[in-house]
Amino acid sequence: MAFDQHGRDIDYLRISVTDRCNLRCLYCMPEEGIHWKPHAEMLTLEEIARFVRVAAGEGIKRIRLTGGEPLVRRGITDLVRRVVQTPGIESVAMTTNGILLPKMAHSLWQAGLSRVNISLDTLDAQQYSHITRWGSIDDAFKGIEVALATGFKPVKINAVVVRSLHQDLLAFARLSIDRPLHVRFIEYMPVGNTCGGAGLGWTAADTIPNEELIDLLNDQARQVGLGSLEPISELAVTPDNWGPARYYQFAGALGTVGFISALSRHFCGQCNRLRLTAEGELLPCLFSDLQFDAKSALRSADERALRQVLRQALSTKPASHHHRVGTSRQMHQIGG
Ligand code: SAM
Ligand code: SF4
Repeated sequence: MAFDQHGRDIDYLRISVTDRCNLRCLYCMPEEGIHWKPHAEMLTLEEIARFVRVAAGEGIKRIRLTGGEPLVRRGITDLVRRVVQTPGIESVAMTTNGILLPKMAHSLWQAGLSRVNISLDTLDAQQYSHITRWGSIDDAFKGIEVALATGFKPVKINAVVVRSLHQDLLAFARLSIDRPLHVRFIEYMPVGNTCGGAGLGWTAADTIPNEELIDLLNDQARQVGLGSLEPISELAVTPDNWGPARYYQFAGALGTVGFISALSRHFCGQCNRLRLTAEGELLPCLFSDLQFDAKSALRSADERALRQVLRQALSTKPASHHHRVGTSRQMHQIGG
């Protein structure tokens, strides 16, 4: 087990396998002007797999592959297979926009991927193209269908809620009723210098605190005779305590509705994670600029140095983000 300096058991590693993406969501990534780092500065798949092996020896048990868009990284299926086969790794999941799932779900499943989170912020085709700048909602819907048909469990839908977008949130919550879809509303985080709402006039007021959102949804649900969302144990959705969401359910629903409050009710006290960027920096906290150079340690092929980097990250992990929001990085560079 790996305990940080505050006694939290850190067993979860989010790995951004690329900072590139086939979409350009307004809150995550600028449309243009990105200075792409040369591929040589990115970790190779072999280096990522080696990092996971050493991290597993230090107490990491669960991995989430993210990005940018993880499915645009060449060789991602092989990486999944290697990570799944790493001794000590108990569970491997992916966060994806789902666009490439119709092509890739089957091979990912065969490689051992069992859980997917698919990002979708609206059910309206025009609004989807607006938010993602050019995506087609039909592709995202197909991704969700394929994820369910392939057998991934759970299939979660991540929806970032932004006040000025006026998304139809009840329509989202309804997705959880007839099928085993776990809809999670994520508070918009105004991060990054050139996106995250900059230039769109979005402000901190565009973050709808989850408490407000739950009340809003319940009002709307009652008006149409759906009743209220009832709290359920998160263990019903994530038996291995995977995520920081609070979960609710409509009576008789096959899926659930979750709320992730990184800002209004931050979950730092239960934080169980480290993040590895595509460039090989190890980040102890999403909202801190603290970072440790895992790439140099990997490239020196000195396993002790790598273990040292992991231990440094654990021993400096802040107790809380102290309501600081954002870093100089864009979300697509961190992995969410
Ligand atoms: N491309 C993949 C996807 O969209 O699922 C994985 C990477 S994306 C950076 C990971 C998660 O971060 C997504 O669920 C996305 O909606 C979320 N995200 C990105 N920018 C955000 C922001 N400013 N506030 C809250 N969540 C954000
Ligand atoms: Fe790409 Fe995901 Fe960021 Fe959207 S949220 S731009 S899909 S990385």
